Amino acid sequence: MAENPKPVLRFAPSPTGMLHIGGARTALFNWLYARHAGGTFLLRIEDTDRTRSTPEAVEAILNGMTWMGLDWDGDVTYQFARAARHREVAEKMLAEGKAYRCYATAEELTAAREEQKAAGKPMRYDGRWRDRIPGPAEEGKPSVVRLKARQTGETIVHDVVLGDVRFENAQLDDMVLLRSDGTPTYMLAVVVDDADMGVTHVIRGADHLNNAARQLQLIEAMGAAVPVYGHLPLINGPDGAKLSKRHGALAVEAYRDMGYLPETMRNYLLRLGWSHGDDEIIPTAQAIEWFNFDSIGKSAARMDYKKLDNLNGHYIRETADATLVAEVTAFLAREKRTLSMTARQRLESAMPSLKERAKTLVELIGGAEFLFNDGPRTLDAEAEKLLTPEGRGALAAVLPALEATGWASAELEAAARAFAEGTGVKLGQVAQPLRAALTGKASSPPLFEMLALLGREESLVRLRAYAA
Ligand code: GLU
Repeated sequence: MAENPKPVLRFAPSPTGMLHIGGARTALFNWLYARHAGGTFLLRIEDTDRTRSTPEAVEAILNGMTWMGLDWDGDVTYQFARAARHREVAEKMLAEGKAYRCYATAEELTAAREEQKAAGKPMRYDGRWRDRIPGPAEEGKPSVVRLKARQTGETIVHDVVLGDVRFENAQLDDMVLLRSDGTPTYMLAVVVDDADMGVTHVIRGADHLNNAARQLQLIEAMGAAVPVYGHLPLINGPDGAKLSKRHGALAVEAYRDMGYLPETMRNYLLRLGWSHGDDEIIPTAQAIEWFNFDSIGKSAARMDYKKLDNLNGHYIRETADATLVAEVTAFLAREKRTLSMTARQRLESAMPSLKERAKTLVELIGGAEFLFNDGPRTLDAEAEKLLTPEGRGALAAVLPALEATGWASAELEAAARAFAEGTGVKLGQVAQPLRAALTGKASSPPLFEMLALLGREESLVRLRAYAA
């Protein structure tokens, strides 16, 4: 397929809930292709369903996109605001004879469907008003506008993921474009918006494949340009069943709150349905360079949380210390916590070691809590076990040696070693109680570096609190 020199892609979520993981992947693929091809990536909020769309969901989607780093070009388009335009197109089609008014009442249609059902036939609109001219009896009666769709032949969706998918036109009935209250249907709105926005590629979830056939009929009737279609297979849970709440987090926000980095999510979601040989680690810049439609998988992808964790550990290690400090600060700010200047400085100094041992920002923050404020620590259960009367005794015994030395990490280590050797105990027997008192935990970044980082005064306050 010849690549359009300036493709226009879009992500068109319905704001009825969070930005979920499937939607985020759809957005990512569109974004990657637009960036890859030097095209445009548009965002359209499909808020035509007024009963289900909420401002909170719009905000969640915009926040989710922003957090994921998927920047869109130009202003957000709100579909509902374009209803007059959708109506105008339907009315033009009506005037051109490409659409018609149907006066069938709900009762009539239900009865027709019941008959079809009883006869074992597929339930479809039977075209009863297709060739009928409304008479005086219809004057002032409610009507819908339907597309006069082709009834023979087939509609083929040329799909870059699934190949050619054929639909018998006889199977597709004349869909409603305008409801009796004059409001446009979703199907009409999507097609008109895509055409008006110059969308060249429609890449979306496979659940929209059937819609594509109907939309093609409408596009044809409108005389609009046919976009390239790509329908992405579903995402399943780790057990292969359709991804659901039961499998854990569905919303992108939840991944943010569990401490995954946006770069991790982009890489992970890319691999969820797209491949480049055996490559697992594909940073975004590389992804933009490589992304194509040919390598999108045809079958459903499976969530793999272990892979996600490993990838996140990788990106945490790869991220610059100062950037991680900013990530941690932003994370804590969402929990209404702020870090003092001192805390931020300590965090950055300890970061090379902290980031080696964390798979998520939550883990990283947990390991860094002892840097955030001053004073004696509250011990966790593991630290409690180290500060037995014996441990506290060891702490008291080693303190004078530390008090007498300089406070650089090498000096502190030498003093502790000399003390251990002199009293015939292992270094660990001294170091573990020290660590517990200093950090409140049984594991931490290298002890002597942390003593040096916290400084003589603050360290001694913490150690003395548990020395006995
Ligand atoms: N608004 C639709 C949805 O949220 C997407 C429509 C489209 O991409 O054509 O699933």
